[in-house]
Amino acid sequence: MRFSQLLIPTLKETPSEAEVASHQLLLRAGFIRKLSSGIYSYLPLGLATIRKVERIVREEMNRAGAQELLLPMVQPGDLWKESGRWEKYGPELLRFTDRHARESCLGPTHEEVITDLIRLNVHSYKELPLNLYQIQTKFRDEIRPRFGLMRGREFIMKDGYSFDATEDGADATYRKMHEAYHRIFSRCGLAFRAVEADTGTIGGSFSHEFMVLADTGEDTIVICKECEYAANMEKARCKTPTAPTPPPLLALEKIETPGKKKVAAVTEFLKISPKELVKTLVYMVEEKPVAVLLRGDHEVQTVKLANALGVNTDNLRLADDKEIFDSTGTPSGYLGPIGLTIPVLADNELTRMHNFAIGANEKNFHLLNANLNRDFTPQIITDLRQITSEDRCPLCGSNLELTRGIEVGHIFKLGTKYSEALKASFLDNQGMEQPFIMGCYGIGVSRTVAAAIEQNHDKDGIIFPLPIAPFQVILLNLSPKDEAITSAANELYSQLGKAGIEVLLDDRDERPGSKFKDADLLGIPYRVMVGKSFSEKGLVEIRDRATGTTLNLPLAETGPKLVGLVREALVAPQ
Ligand code: ATP
Ligand code: MG
Repeated sequence: MRFSQLLIPTLKETPSEAEVASHQLLLRAGFIRKLSSGIYSYLPLGLATIRKVERIVREEMNRAGAQELLLPMVQPGDLWKESGRWEKYGPELLRFTDRHARESCLGPTHEEVITDLIRLNVHSYKELPLNLYQIQTKFRDEIRPRFGLMRGREFIMKDGYSFDATEDGADATYRKMHEAYHRIFSRCGLAFRAVEADTGTIGGSFSHEFMVLADTGEDTIVICKECEYAANMEKARCKTPTAPTPPPLLALEKIETPGKKKVAAVTEFLKISPKELVKTLVYMVEEKPVAVLLRGDHEVQTVKLANALGVNTDNLRLADDKEIFDSTGTPSGYLGPIGLTIPVLADNELTRMHNFAIGANEKNFHLLNANLNRDFTPQIITDLRQITSEDRCPLCGSNLELTRGIEVGHIFKLGTKYSEALKASFLDNQGMEQPFIMGCYGIGVSRTVAAAIEQNHDKDGIIFPLPIAPFQVILLNLSPKDEAITSAANELYSQLGKAGIEVLLDDRDERPGSKFKDADLLGIPYRVMVGKSFSEKGLVEIRDRATGTTLNLPLAETGPKLVGLVREALVAPQ
């Protein structure tokens, strides 16, 4: 392709609406343009990159035995009513009514549609397992669309759904998808981790999120520095060190702490560490109060708390001061577990603490030397807190690290949630009717492009991993008016094209400086320059965008060298 003929509207200035690097660079490099909030047009280079990711996704899904299909984007409201999600999904589901007054929606995901398709067309265990996927535009009316392709309202997703006859079969399919996802993101050239994710009410460890590691990621993830363990904050566990031998348990002591409510103020006043205090929080759970006990320096992990209570996080919130007073008779800041009449949950860490400070359930007072099971007994003791970088890996005991990631993929064993709701069943080998055992597997294709840029850029522009770059080589003709240079550049261009290398030929009548700037901005992995040193010494320069290293070669050697470099970068994992 010739630069002069392509629509590549690069921008000199960083657009003010773009906060993160990928959004800024996608706009500046002329890859995307915004139509309206969270809705973008993909320009030729943007689309070329998207197609690269799609191709890798297709190859690996097909390799894993999945089949591609394409489902409608407009979905009937009735199907969503059958699954119960018409009420539950909330305003992210864009609903509308057609001319016959039928309620419809734009597909944010396709569990209902695919389950309907399978219940009508698959009837016997002999037709299973089935694994079906599509690559399609999704619509979610996100409350805060932002960061360009990272969180759009309209975006491109690969969504896959599997149907198995047995639990073992479904688990095997899940493992296959896990492996396929590993191959996909490795082949995209990205640094990523598969993290254990929360499965809510379904349970088990059958949900993983694939996270591209980047400082600007929205999600915090926990990874072990030594082993493979990785989890998101909602699911992260830690090794519980064996409890120290208990010291002699001291007698409770009431102490005046005038006006001291916050952990920092109380512990400073008492001259103790926050690790020697237990704080008591009150949550409203389905509008009923529940107390939660945690070590002073720890924080609640809401999803863990919701799971411990068997509720949805939407039905959980911190109580306000009035609700605290009404339910405990104590003003907030002085609460403690002794004598509380509302249900009490305690975090595991309390089992390792002795002679700690708590609120006295009386204004301006705290108690010293409280002890679990001697002075109070919580109804539930379990893991309720956020993991910190002081915690240890649950698998190998090494240090854990908290880092940031961007969720690009999510795999989930659904079980029979949708097949039961939609009465989708097959006859097993005994002739018994059974619900399909399902899994679902998503990849944010457009988000993957944004994540790749978040992870790979510098002040000058994008640094694409070669497998997903819109072109593999950008060939700069630095003097389009010079015949010798132009004919050398054209010769190399056609030679590379014949060898299957994707080359963007910058044939524009522009100053070399602006060609260099654009080449850096677009992030194409190899920049090849035919200019003065070709006229003087017959040499062509190859520059690696990522490392900045350059190589000067005679024209005849340049093509074969580039072919070798490109092939090397495209080697798929075994
Ligand atoms: P998030 O927590 O980021 O909203 P999600 O849990 O809603 O994601 P899924 O329903 O699992 O996401 O969708 C599958 C994949 O689609 C995600 O892993 C992500 O890569 C991508 N995705 C989800 N929402 C968006 C969006 N608004 N814009 C771009 N990609 C998205
Ligand atoms: Mg979402």
